[in-house]
Amino acid sequence: MGGPCPICRRATVARWRPFCSKRCADIDLGRWLGEAYRIEVDDPDGPDRGADPDPDPDAGGDPRVG
Ligand SMILES: [Zn+2]
Repeated sequence: MGGPCPICRRATVARWRPFCSKRCADIDLGRWLGEAYRIEVDDPDGPDRGADPDPDPDAGGDPRVG
């Protein structure tokens, strides 16, 4: 039972299951660590929050117009 190596899709080796080799096992570990690190540095306050720097120009009415 067991599918192929999730990294390169080759037949797995019992010693490195579920991978086919130490190399693929290392790749998977690297992906894991990389993913975790990426989430950690991810900034929830991105530059694009949709906030308008100009607060309602038509709210109070311009005294020069009208
Ligand atoms: Zn592999």
